[in-house]
Amino acid sequence: MPLPGSSPDGRRVGLFGGTFDPPHVGHLVTAVNVRHALRLDVVILMVNNVPWQKEGERPITPALHRLAMVEAAVADVPGLEAGRLEIDHGGHSYTADTLAALRATEPDATFFTIVGDDAAAGLMTWERYEEVVAASTMVVVDRPGVPVELPEGVDWIHVESPRLEVSSTDLRARFTDGRPLDYLVTDPVLDLIRANRYYADDPAVVTANGAPELRR
Ligand code: ATP
Ligand code: MG
Repeated sequence: MPLPGSSPDGRRVGLFGGTFDPPHVGHLVTAVNVRHALRLDVVILMVNNVPWQKEGERPITPALHRLAMVEAAVADVPGLEAGRLEIDHGGHSYTADTLAALRATEPDATFFTIVGDDAAAGLMTWERYEEVVAASTMVVVDRPGVPVELPEGVDWIHVESPRLEVSSTDLRARFTDGRPLDYLVTDPVLDLIRANRYYADDPAVVTANGAPELRR
């Protein structure tokens, strides 16, 4: 059976965007399972610069620090990469623009936009989501046996993957309260969180647009 969205030449590239504040095992389990299921050459965990849908809700860890955490998370994982394109581009992060930029550097590649269930449900709210749908194959990650309700009119590929009940929101709260994060994030990520005290009441970094020093 031909693979969905297969292309004769060029890499098969998955784009998995997020705030990753912090990146956790749920993100990693998703990325490796989608890569395996769709035979992708690489899955890029693309770190949002300014997550416009989350702006104003809470302090967001500076983008380069979130990138450092994602780099630490994927360092030993074959086929996973940390993406810094949206940070280098600056300003707001829109997947439509990111796909266009990736396409420009890799015209023969086939792109897959990977989203978890919550993100998939909100696709229609994305800036120029039609461009995203036109430029890539949409992949939604389902919990086994529990398909999510999806916006209609989009050809979704479903990949089943265990959905670990872990969220960055909960991890931040755990750190603030002094509860353990062990096994919910990888050790190199936990080391960075501890060193920089990202989610403490007295963080080592200032979560504004200063130039915070990264402690390793
Ligand atoms: P927050 O709680 O701050 O919203 P998050 O844990 O949801 O963080 P995001 O960076 O918002 O993480 O999500 C990036 C992508 O990862 C989204 O597509 C989201 O659906 C997906 N995702 C988030 N948590 C999980 C999980 N536990 N398992 C699988 N996918 C997840
Ligand atoms: Mg989220």
